[in-house]
Amino acid sequence: MSPFSYHKPASVSEAINLAGPSTRFIAGGTNLLDLMKENVVRPQHLVDITGLALKAIEATATGGLRIGALVSNAELAWHPLIEQGYPLLSQAILAGASPQLRNMASTAGNLLQRTRCYYFYDTGTPCNKREPGSGCPARTGLNRIHAILGASDACVATHPSDMCVALAALEAVVHVQGRGGERQIAFADFHRLPGNAPERDNQLADDELITAVELPPPTFAAHCKYLKIRDRASYAFALVSVAAALQIEGGMIKDARLALGGVAHKPWRQPAAEQALQGQRPSQAVFTQAADALLQGARPLSQNAFKVALAHRAIIRALSEAALGTAHVGALP
Ligand SMILES: Cc1cc2nc3c(=O)[nH]c(=O)nc-3n(C[C@H](O)[C@H](O)[C@H](O)COP(=O)(O)OP(=O)(O)OC[C@H]3O[C@@H](n4cnc5c(N)ncnc54)[C@H](O)[C@@H]3O)c2cc1C
Repeated sequence: MSPFSYHKPASVSEAINLAGPSTRFIAGGTNLLDLMKENVVRPQHLVDITGLALKAIEATATGGLRIGALVSNAELAWHPLIEQGYPLLSQAILAGASPQLRNMASTAGNLLQRTRCYYFYDTGTPCNKREPGSGCPARTGLNRIHAILGASDACVATHPSDMCVALAALEAVVHVQGRGGERQIAFADFHRLPGNAPERDNQLADDELITAVELPPPTFAAHCKYLKIRDRASYAFALVSVAAALQIEGGMIKDARLALGGVAHKPWRQPAAEQALQGQRPSQAVFTQAADALLQGARPLSQNAFKVALAHRAIIRALSEAALGTAHVGALP
């Protein structure tokens, strides 16, 4: 690990004034410290934001919720307003990591966790995301866990978060603050596809701090399912995951949201997939059409063609379970 200075600001503005290209904010540290120990990232300055007043979950004037950037993944998953109004989010968070990690991990840190591509972590190999212009051995190498959608010649890494897949489906909004002021970023625009700049995972500027994530009013609580498929039943990242949310009235799908995890550089949505569900009666045939649309354009690599079939079946299963009614996490043993 390289040497670094340590600062613990008392306010958001103080934190932002300390920010810069060679500085990293540290929250739970569950991803950043691993990356520093492996020399994957080498910040010269660490700004510890754990003392900032960003730990509240509050109702918004429009009937949604504002989640402070430092709310822990555990607190968020088990919060009564989340369990009742946004069970999709609870399910997604509880499908990830371990209880100990979820106690430490923060909301903003989860959004900004880095890929689990083996080559990104291995400083003995090239990686365009770690060292721009050095190459991407995953394209022709070990790529079983990599992207099947939205990848580029420069990078085939996936975004590893479970929580972000649910936030994408729920159309959350990310609140950020920098030296130039505050702005809000729609979740769909927050993470990037790799293109020819895979070193950039998202749209945050170097001086910007995430202050909160806002959820719109809850409309999908009754019919939602987060389904995660992984190599081990716990403590493993998704090979494929699905966030499925339906609003069903009079036996018809009034509105629908679908997002995939483990398949792209960001949670993957496709308007045509959701349109295929809207106005339809839930059925295997309709769910199959949605799965076809969501996977449109999938381009597997040498070792991950199985992900296309796996994702197709997972989408249909998640939609089928969502249509039957939400299994609330609080009701689980
Ligand atoms: C063994 C293991 C298994 C895991 N399994 C899963 C899993 O199955 N599913 C899953 O989704 N995740 C999983 N995780 C990842 C875990 O969820 C993340 O490490 C965690 O959410 C990161 O949050 P943190 O607060 O610890 O972030 P940190 O490590 O503190 O920070 C991560 C990044 O976010 C930046 N940052 C933090 N807060 C802010 C802010 N407010 N504004 C701007 N930048 C900020 C930091 O600078 C850093 O770049 C796993 C992690 C481990 C170690």
